Amino acid sequence: IKPSELVSASLDRISATDEKVKAFLHVNGEQALSAARKMDEHIPADAGLLFGIPGAVKDNMNAKGLPTTCASKILANYVSAYDSTAVAKLQAAGGISVGKTNMDEFAMGSSGENSGFFPTHNPWDLERVPGGSSSGSAAAVAAGQVLYALGSDTGGSIRQPAAYTGTVGLKPTYGLVSRFGLVAYASSFDQIGPITRTVEDSAIVLQAIAGHDPLDSTSANVEIPNYLDALTGDVKGLRIGLPKEYFEEGLDPAVREQIEQAMETFKGLGATFGEVSLPHTKYAVATYYLLAPAEASSNLARFDGVRYGVRVEADSLIEMYKKTRGEGFGDEVKRRIMLGTYALSSGYYDAYYLRAQKVRTLIKQDFDNVFADYDLILSPTAPTTAFKLGENVDDPLTMYLNDIYTIPVNLAGIPAISVPCGLANGLPVGLQLIGKAFDESTLLRAAHAFE
Ligand code: GLN
Repeated sequence: IKPSELVSASLDRISATDEKVKAFLHVNGEQALSAARKMDEHIPADAGLLFGIPGAVKDNMNAKGLPTTCASKILANYVSAYDSTAVAKLQAAGGISVGKTNMDEFAMGSSGENSGFFPTHNPWDLERVPGGSSSGSAAAVAAGQVLYALGSDTGGSIRQPAAYTGTVGLKPTYGLVSRFGLVAYASSFDQIGPITRTVEDSAIVLQAIAGHDPLDSTSANVEIPNYLDALTGDVKGLRIGLPKEYFEEGLDPAVREQIEQAMETFKGLGATFGEVSLPHTKYAVATYYLLAPAEASSNLARFDGVRYGVRVEADSLIEMYKKTRGEGFGDEVKRRIMLGTYALSSGYYDAYYLRAQKVRTLIKQDFDNVFADYDLILSPTAPTTAFKLGENVDDPLTMYLNDIYTIPVNLAGIPAISVPCGLANGLPVGLQLIGKAFDESTLLRAAHAFE
């Protein structure tokens, strides 16, 4: 098959399904096809596994000449002047991006409903959310529109939508994939990673995008192993910890049942299990929803009607700022900016931000303690399956609690993967495996043996 045939098939599938799924904010069909046709003419002998394969990119990553809106009205007219490193690396590996995917505005949300344009629907049941914030990336892969999509995971935004859509979502170790060109939400948490149909595809995409980047000062200078080599199918002797705090109230019994079956599968493959404790888990959601909005309030200060995107004209500069930001940002983004600004304001900094940073360290130590004796941690990705559109929109707290098993991983900066794990209530369940920092190989090996 030629690259142009693959890209055509992807575009056809998008035409046939996206009116209902609404995974894409922007499809660059012509551009993708012409790139593919050029590749048809010269298929190098050493073409890699991504050569000519159509994928998609979450709309918070810059891709030169294309819109990057972060699904926000404030960036509705913004066109990228450069490529983010992850996008450039995919392209260098021969990947062809067919479009930019929908998301919760500025990656704030867990359902896709905070998109400033329209919500994405879950291909498994169009009345349900696909999860978020990488809603469009997960839905596009689940609907067979593309073979892989890039997402970003600040507090679960790759793994939770992967769980809700029956796809594989990998959040790499903080610093493994460059954040250069990713529009910052909470810079000390943000990580780019792949959403795919299989673990093998996840390894292939990770291989392409991982690696040190001098353009990102938090990019890690570590050796990148061959991730495909890790997929041996062998998990004999692997020590897996089960955090007791992740199996308490709030977990849907139908989800729990699938996770317990997954444990049996792993036991059958020769892995061993032990109960472990992550005692500070109960503080994780509160800690995250303090720190992430604090960072966001600072990062989003740049959207002022002067430097980027939309401007609402007014008589004075201050009025212009107020009107632009007032009309440009959605409710959730404003809520986070207010929370974050409050937490950072003088007199409150010690009580909130500084305290939360200390708890963040305790949460990281919880994981370090477990990983002294275990190779991996196993848990559900989310406490429930995909909920109905509109079901939680008026209840930010319930929405925030959805991230209870994913957020601790971001606080600790470690990697985790969500793999499909059967159905509950007729909907996909995600199994989460959490690994040691920079040990994506073990994560991928175990996930691959299981799937
Ligand atoms: N639901 C989380 C939030 O709203 C996750 C966001 C993310 O990972 N980008 O902040």
